[in-house]
Amino acid sequence: MNGPLIALRGVRKRFTTRGGIAVEALRCIDFDIEAGEFVAIVGASGSGKSTLMNILGCLDKPTEGSYRFAGDDVSGLDRDALAALRREAFGFVFQQYNLIPTATARGNVEVPAIYAGETAETRAARAAALLARLGLADRLDHRPGELSGGQQQRVSIARALMNGGQVILADEPTGALDSQSGAEVMALLTALADEGHTVILITHDRGLAGTAHRIVEIADGEIVADSGPAARRARPWSGASASGDGAGWWADIGEAFVAARAALLAGPVRTTLTLLGIVIGVASVVALMAVGQGSKQVLLDRLNSLGVNQLYVDDLGRRRGPDGLLTMRDVEVVRRVDNVAAAMPNLRGTVTVRRGNTDLQTLGYSATPEFPAIKNWDLSEGVFYTDIDERRLTTVAVIGQTVRRTLFADGADAIGAYILVDNVPFRVIGVLSAKGAMSGDTDNDNMVVFPFGTGSYRVFGRPYPNGVYVAVGDLDRIDDTIADIGAALEAVRGVRDFTIYNGVAFINARAEAHDTLSLLLAATAAISLLVGGIGIMNVMLMTVRGRTREIGIRMAAGARTADILRQFLTEAVLLSGAGGILGLVIGHLAGAGATYLGMPVIFTLHAAGAAFACALAAGLVFGYAPARGAARLEPVVALARE
Ligand code: ADP
Ligand code: MG
Repeated sequence: MNGPLIALRGVRKRFTTRGGIAVEALRCIDFDIEAGEFVAIVGASGSGKSTLMNILGCLDKPTEGSYRFAGDDVSGLDRDALAALRREAFGFVFQQYNLIPTATARGNVEVPAIYAGETAETRAARAAALLARLGLADRLDHRPGELSGGQQQRVSIARALMNGGQVILADEPTGALDSQSGAEVMALLTALADEGHTVILITHDRGLAGTAHRIVEIADGEIVADSGPAARRARPWSGASASGDGAGWWADIGEAFVAARAALLAGPVRTTLTLLGIVIGVASVVALMAVGQGSKQVLLDRLNSLGVNQLYVDDLGRRRGPDGLLTMRDVEVVRRVDNVAAAMPNLRGTVTVRRGNTDLQTLGYSATPEFPAIKNWDLSEGVFYTDIDERRLTTVAVIGQTVRRTLFADGADAIGAYILVDNVPFRVIGVLSAKGAMSGDTDNDNMVVFPFGTGSYRVFGRPYPNGVYVAVGDLDRIDDTIADIGAALEAVRGVRDFTIYNGVAFINARAEAHDTLSLLLAATAAISLLVGGIGIMNVMLMTVRGRTREIGIRMAAGARTADILRQFLTEAVLLSGAGGILGLVIGHLAGAGATYLGMPVIFTLHAAGAAFACALAAGLVFGYAPARGAARLEPVVALARE
């Protein structure tokens, strides 16, 4: 490289205060620095030294004039290119050290290398080596608050050297130190200059400035004296290395995790309170969906087991008189309708069953042999009657569990035994499996079933069925089938004196009611997630505000806009994720509690997954604005923030 490392031409910097007053902090600075120089910029307080250093370090831009670094015009560089230059070329040492308070000494020193994309091992090893060299080998895991001023300043010098520290910019590095520590820091800077680092020392102290090889005096924003270039031992500037493609995604997540944990632990109560929305949202989705699913499944199971996933043709006989009753001819008509798989007439009435001295009021149910298939009801013992029994009007019966238990309490074998049904002797050939009560106190097992014809002639004394169960073939065509049955029956009967109940529609309606309930639950959950998201936004805004200086420190170390954005977004997502996990745990505990109380509960993976995803999304969406605000800060503004 030919020419100076740093060349300023006609540089001006104007500030406009909030009151609208323009301050000319620098006016017409022309000045070169060669690689390897040890320069002191000296001047009274307010003379513009820090402003100059910010411009030299690419933390700020001149209002006018040009700044060439290694021959390249810096004014043409965008934010990320400036970040790369800071990362690769500059190391900053500030009066107030500017260490990240939540990170250890080693963590602080590693920061520039994170944004240079170095692996964790390389970083840790180099940071440890640098700290050891600066006499802090036994302070690696101390946080800034646990270190003396001199030690903190040495940590910041190690950080400045982390990526090579081609140019060390030190702004009043001894300003906050006692004389002993100050002398140590000055000795370090001198040693670095001797090694070939370009060292720019900014001070108001002429005595300190004397340490440097060249003294530039600044007053009221102008250079008033310059001792001129001195002998130097240059280390050539090799240009920004190509490896500086920034922090890896995983490295960021690791960093952000540490930072998020620190934020969580900094105010656990506040954080928990703000995460409450997310927690409640996720927990309510998980628990309520589980209870909803459970009760829906129970309902469907019961309805299914009772065989109402069929049609039922009901007479209106009680109101219409004998002419309104369904007949066996009507059953045949229904059987012949397209898409009807089976039609089962039935007659019901209360009967008294008796065996020996024991009798019991029960439901007598006469139906054709389709009963087990249409009712979806198995036998626990014996067999069901057949078409032959139906045709021969055999007096055989299949009894329910309650009847079996009551009449055969003596432990006798039910199959083959004779019982009286309203004084007609029947032979028991089968026992139905237990069904239990569907609702209220109706005991479905308190029943005795016998052939339709037998019941019709021997027990009930009437040939008309109470109604006809119809099993349809193709459920998708159920509406057409209902219409066809209605038309066929009306054709033979002349009037529409019957009703067709659709068990399928009944189930669907009940299931839909459940779906509406689920939707309501989802809406409730969505609202709490929204509130939770706003909570996250609040935490993130406070985090960004409280850590503005840290953002500035990271930017000085070479963090790009995207690095900062990613870090704070990751924090937001980690926070909401923590809330989500807590919500999942609480939701499952609540569900388990409901199970304990006897409620049917079905946990679904997709409900938990969706709720958790929503929580993460809330973090992402509501964390975005604060994160972007952080990423868009100007480095010099962020650093100046208290
Ligand atoms: P030094 O570091 O030499 O003490 P500075 O460079 O900090 O001086 O400031 C130089 C002048 O510019 C001062 O008058 C100061 O008030 C003014 N100045 C610095 N920064 C700002 C700013 N952000 N807004 C307004 N005025 C500023
Ligand atoms: Mg200053």
